[in-house]
Amino acid sequence: MAGQEKKTSWREISEEIIVGMTEWRQQNPKATFRAIEEELDRRLADLRVRMLADLAVKSASADWESGTEAAVCPKCGAELVANGKKKRKLQTRGGREVELEREYGICPKCGQGIFPPG
Ligand SMILES: [Zn+2]
Repeated sequence: MAGQEKKTSWREISEEIIVGMTEWRQQNPKATFRAIEEELDRRLADLRVRMLADLAVKSASADWESGTEAAVCPKCGAELVANGKKKRKLQTRGGREVELEREYGICPKCGQGIFPPG
């Protein structure tokens, strides 16, 4: 977890949402309940996606490093060898795309490459 690049923290995103919604409300004093809800959902989706991506990456790397559950090849059952990190794109329920950087394993027997479960 040597995250060198500067990332916006969950807390910062949350604060942006709070400040943003407060300002938006002031600018839209006649907004309906539905409009407020939509605006809030739209902003919360950013935080949701970011948390989802971070949490998914955490569990994946924890599994790989702990070695308690060795990732095995679904085809032949051989233990996978870590093969660096690769990016993987997933869809969230809201239809957003999340790019996860995850440990990627390769089977020494049949050459099958997979992401460990998690
Ligand atoms: Zn295999």
